[in-house]
Amino acid sequence: MAFDIKKIREDFPILKRKMNGKPLIYFDNAATSQKPAPVIDAEREFYEKYNANIHRSIHRLGEEATKKYEEAHDKASKFINAGFEEVVFTSGTTESLNLLAYSLGSEIKEGDEMVISQAEHHSNFVQWQQLAKNKRAKLKFAEITDDGTLDLGQLSRILNKKTRIVSLFHVSNVLGTINPIKKISKIIKEKSNACFIVDAAQSAPHMKLNVKELGCDFLAFSGHKMLAPTGIGVLYGKQELLEKMQPFMFGGEMIKHVTFEDTKFNDLPWKFEAGTANIAQAIGLGAAIDYLNKAGMQNIERHDAELAKYCYRLLDSMGDVEIYGPEERNSLVSFNVKNVHAHDTAAVLDSEGIAVRAGHHCAMPLHSLLGIPASARASFYLYNTKEEIDALGEGLKKVSKVFS
Ligand code: PLP
Repeated sequence: MAFDIKKIREDFPILKRKMNGKPLIYFDNAATSQKPAPVIDAEREFYEKYNANIHRSIHRLGEEATKKYEEAHDKASKFINAGFEEVVFTSGTTESLNLLAYSLGSEIKEGDEMVISQAEHHSNFVQWQQLAKNKRAKLKFAEITDDGTLDLGQLSRILNKKTRIVSLFHVSNVLGTINPIKKISKIIKEKSNACFIVDAAQSAPHMKLNVKELGCDFLAFSGHKMLAPTGIGVLYGKQELLEKMQPFMFGGEMIKHVTFEDTKFNDLPWKFEAGTANIAQAIGLGAAIDYLNKAGMQNIERHDAELAKYCYRLLDSMGDVEIYGPEERNSLVSFNVKNVHAHDTAAVLDSEGIAVRAGHHCAMPLHSLLGIPASARASFYLYNTKEEIDALGEGLKKVSKVFS
């Protein structure tokens, strides 16, 4: 499929909705994306035609469900150039990162060090903070410079042989900053023996990822931000590391053999997928990956970055809008209209049919660093257009007028 935005928009039923009589302009994609008909159909088809539990039923429906579920696994592995054994399905980025904090965390000892950045989403923040407290380990922060990028020199200086875990965003959900993961990976390997975890929640939907090239040990992302249903996400881990790790949850599916005395765990990736899986959602993720591949991840990356740049320049030219983060960015722009609370900005935009997010975007420490209680965020995806961004510009003029 060529990148035909008119055709793409037709695939998303929700985009036909009117808000206050105006066409819906959906700019809250960083929170969750909309779903195209093939994804909605895939989920419905599962329930209508072959709903059954997987990996345990001898009957035909069970076999069909298992085949589709494993196909989704295969698609997700190929999507990031990982091996089949290296991709675990979770409920999303949050669960993936908590799984790591639990399993890797069991090895953390008093005096060990962990590093995250000042700009992490709470789901890549709170568990490391709590782990450090519980284990009397030290949590260090990689700093963000005034231009909103990661200070690589400072990061290099805080790494040492005691650093056990480094967990960083790929694309910031507030600043839009793209971290140079390959370069960071090299710095980490030179200065420490730490495991490198990448929070790819805001990059996997927008860029072609290749875990072999990125050089990270683990990577996490959510299906619902990339056209798939909620409740399904991915944890990638290098096979040799996943083999060594303790399971996060125990129960059905994750075992090979259980006796009264002990349990032999299942092979990868099932060792980390205890209980009945989110089968319909996983199949939906498979359909979403098919859709993204057809549109072309390179096309999507170019399109989304172009929209972000267009929006950045438009807002920058308005004079009374403060933008957070560097001009070079991926798919979103966070901002405040001077002297107007982000919630008021979002409410006025909503009356114009424009959906943006307003608040701290689950990054309270970063907002306190920026010296603001909240920001508004416009985030884009493959179905958005420059004309919609022009409408955002007009909406913001109204915000300025109402509150001046
Ligand atoms: N990390 C980043 C950078 C995010 O933007 C988000 C969600 O907004 C998450 C993690 C958490 O994702 P989820 O809520 O899907 O688990």
